[in-house]
Formats: sequence, C-alpha cells, structure tokens
Amino acid sequence: MRETIEFPRRQPAGLHHLVVGDALVTAVNDGTFQASFDLIVGIDHAECERLETAAFRPIPPKMTMNAFLVQIAGRRMLVDTGCGVSMGPTLGMLTDNLQSMGVEPEDIDTVLMTHLHPDHVNGLVDEHGEAVFPKAELVVNEAELNFFRDPGSPGRSPPETLEFFEGARLAVAPYSDRIRTLRDGPAFPGVTAVTQAGHTPGQTAWLIESGSDTLMIWGDVVHMPNLQMAAPQAGTVLDIDREQAIATRKRALDMAATDRIRVAGTHFDFPAIGHIERRTIGFGFVPEVWRAFV
Ligand SMILES: [Zn+2]
Repeated sequence: MRETIEFPRRQPAGLHHLVVGDALVTAVNDGTFQASFDLIVGIDHAECERLETAAFRPIPPKMTMNAFLVQIAGRRMLVDTGCGVSMGPTLGMLTDNLQSMGVEPEDIDTVLMTHLHPDHVNGLVDEHGEAVFPKAELVVNEAELNFFRDPGSPGRSPPETLEFFEGARLAVAPYSDRIRTLRDGPAFPGVTAVTQAGHTPGQTAWLIESGSDTLMIWGDVVHMPNLQMAAPQAGTVLDIDREQAIATRKRALDMAATDRIRVAGTHFDFPAIGHIERRTIGFGFVPEVWRAFV
C-alpha cells in the first residue's frame, strides 16, 4: 500500500534561463501573493471574475512577482529586486533563487529599476535596512527618482500609494553614492531604457539586444496579465496617472503584438517570458515553451 504523499510546500528553484543572442537572461521568481480585484479599476468585479475564470485563473486572484538576471557583455545585472523581507513569507525568494544558480548578491554589478514601488524596490535592502547588493550600481529613470524625491508628489498621488514614498526612500538610501539616473536610450552595451510612464512617472522597460535577438522586460504594464491584456482599459488604484497608464499599456501591447517582440514581465505568470498576441477582444499572452536544454 502506498504511503500518503507529503506535498512539498514550495516548488524547487524558481528560475528560467533564456538565451538572447550572446546574452543569458534568467527569470527569477520572487514568489506569489494573494491579490484582490479591489486593486483593479475601470472594469467591475464581475467582469474581472469572468476574465480570470476564462483564463483558468483562481478567484480571488493571485499575483506573481519576478525579477530578471541579465548577463550581457561581461555584466551581471538585475532588473528589479522583488519584495525582500517586506511583504510576508510567500515573497522575497529572489536571493535564495539566485544563490541556487551560484549567483551571490555581491556578484551583481548593476540593478536596473523598472520603477520604485515596494514590490520591486524593497529587495534592495535587508531587515536592517542595509544594502543587499553591496557592489551594485543602482540605475533609475531620472523622472522616477525625481518624482519619489519631490516632497510635493504624495499630495498629487492616490492615497493607496502614500506609504510607498518613504519605502522607496529607505530602499534607495544605502545606494545613494552609487545611483545613476538616465532617460530613454542606450544605458549599457545591449541594454536600452524605454520609458513607459503612467503607472509611475518614470516607469521604464529594459530592452535587451544581442545579435539579432531581443527581449523587452516590462514592469507594471500589467499587474494581472490575463485580465489587463484582455481588457487593457482596466487600470489599478496604484496608477499615478491612470489615463496615461492605460494609453501606455495599449501602446506597449500593440507594439509587442505587431512587431512580434518577445517580452518578459515582473508580474507575468512564471516563467514570465513570452509573446503578446492580438485577439478578437484585447490581447493574450503566449508563454515561451519550456525546454530542458538552454
Ligand atoms: Zn508591481
């Protein structure tokens, strides 16, 4: 007679490697968390439920958090840093997962931020507020850093985001003597910044190019991918400029579908890399096929 199977609580190594020309990009899962349709605006809860059910996703919805390791032209760069210790035990798995592939925090020379919201920035610091990545230069869109440092910004922001300002300040502080700000354009060999403003004023995608191969890494263009690709008019209460965020999402999805650009997303379901396809209504996500050999 078979013994009762004890189900493991965690999946093994949350990593997915993707070759991009001569570069290697690794999706690194930071965890998942219980979300709520209260986050979503622009469509009602019944429509949210219908869209997530149609996509075979659970209700209430769960959200995924990812970061990306980009090894290109002799650099080891991270795009975003996950939640760190700030958001409970189902998140903050970034450094464990990196270590499982032999990458230590001190091996990271650059951290590229998509934006400065807590689920992306809090992994910069440990429980004592010290830098997790002791040798990394922090690269942030100039408009993003200026917005989060402007004492007038909280007064022009949704109430749900007010505590994000102090959180961003604390996360960025240990890196203050090694921050580089930039705007659109080439940032490093093979790495280009593309502003996607709206969710935050300086939200930035990172376009990775090597040889004839490309990958565009998005931040919060979508939070709940199945829902907001099917209904791009659905925004979130966290969007600083909701109308601009909708326009940015529609443009990004349209561009990725039209130009067949491979995309990765911080809130895409893991392994978080794939293509956008145009559907009769809205867009859909076609995940990259998993292969045993990289
Ligand atoms: Zn986010």
